[in-house]
Amino acid sequence: MLKRLSILGSTGSIGTQALEVCEAHGFSVMGLAAYSNEALLEEQTRRFRPQLVCIFDESRYHSLKARVADLPVRVVTGIGGLCEAASLAEADMVLNAVSGMIGLRPTLAAIDAHKEIALANKETLVTGGELVMRRAKVQNVPVLPVDSEHSAIFQCLNGYRHCKVNRILLTASGGPFFGKTRAELQYVTKKDALNHPNWSMGQKITIDSATMMNKGLELIEAYWLFDVPPEQIEVVIHRESIIHSAVEFEDCGVIAQLGMPDMKLPIQYAITYPERRPCPTKPLNLWEVGKLTFYEPDMETFSCLKTAKEAIRRGKLYPTLMNCANELAVQLFLDGKISFLQIAELNERVLELDGRGEVTVDNILNAEAAAREFVLSSI
Ligand code: NDP
Ligand code: MG
Repeated sequence: MLKRLSILGSTGSIGTQALEVCEAHGFSVMGLAAYSNEALLEEQTRRFRPQLVCIFDESRYHSLKARVADLPVRVVTGIGGLCEAASLAEADMVLNAVSGMIGLRPTLAAIDAHKEIALANKETLVTGGELVMRRAKVQNVPVLPVDSEHSAIFQCLNGYRHCKVNRILLTASGGPFFGKTRAELQYVTKKDALNHPNWSMGQKITIDSATMMNKGLELIEAYWLFDVPPEQIEVVIHRESIIHSAVEFEDCGVIAQLGMPDMKLPIQYAITYPERRPCPTKPLNLWEVGKLTFYEPDMETFSCLKTAKEAIRRGKLYPTLMNCANELAVQLFLDGKISFLQIAELNERVLELDGRGEVTVDNILNAEAAAREFVLSSI
């Protein structure tokens, strides 16, 4: 089936690859959205001819409008515009690849508009998992994972949805600081932390991989997507990033999904599901890979993983507090305002705040503000 998509975060790492997938398979792009990159949005608008384009940053609205004035496209801005792009009447599917928890409201808007969701934005589920999955169920809307580990788990479960799962084996590359001690991490720089061994991604997720908060966020994401309790989700360090994750069933049979570390396949699988199509990714050559290695994570050095487990164990608004503290802490680290190890400290300490409220959009936004205030007053 030829789907019609709206792509949120179209100028980012996932967004640009998603557009290549659309182009390769002849899918129409009805909506595009980005934060402020008007030059690339203009280029994408000329190439894909969407009906609507959203530039979130209101100060860029008029200049983007002028850039595409010769095209039959509606230009919108702000959170209202982003939600409009998520609920476009002409689109069947919304691929949400914005970075950060700003992705929550457009995901909810897309569900309410009965769009299939291809979800890359993990912060949506970390903060609003309860709300999003409940609403998706009520509206009978599929939430298809784009994150490579969750795509792998989803693929492993296909055909076995009725079977009891013992464990999910969530693989992690270990990032650029695998094997290092806390003392060695004290003075690492932004450049060191952005140097991921296997994956080329946006800056925020690359820092999250270095602290291993990315795996913590993914553990929470897996809990919401697959309804498997956190104690049955085991993080396994797998340096080669060839096994993208695995599922162990009741009979101890383990099914894993393998492939080269390339986001094209999981992005494409979410878009073409339930079909499989040819993909321009490099085929896996196991002789070239040679060996696959596995290690237990070092939870003391990479304490973000422990913090994420504690946040989801407490549930409610605790994962939101942690996520918001992390978003701000990563930004402060990238801006040179705090050290690498301070990111994990702030994420852990923010759980001192009260996160026992109900998970509603308003409470999530209030928790976000409280976490921001906490971080800014703690540095
Ligand atoms: P990037 O930083 O490369 O791109 C982010 C995109 O979101 C850009 O298009 C950016 O626009 C846009 N954006 C940011 N804020 C807003 C906003 N308020 N309104 C509209 N658009 C906005 O990130 P990635 O592509 O790496 O990651 C996107 C999401 O996918 C994240 O949640 C990440 O965790 C997840 N993910 C990413 C993977 C990867 O391989 N990159 C793997 C698995 C998950 P602009 O360019 O104008 O700033
Ligand atoms: Mg991932």
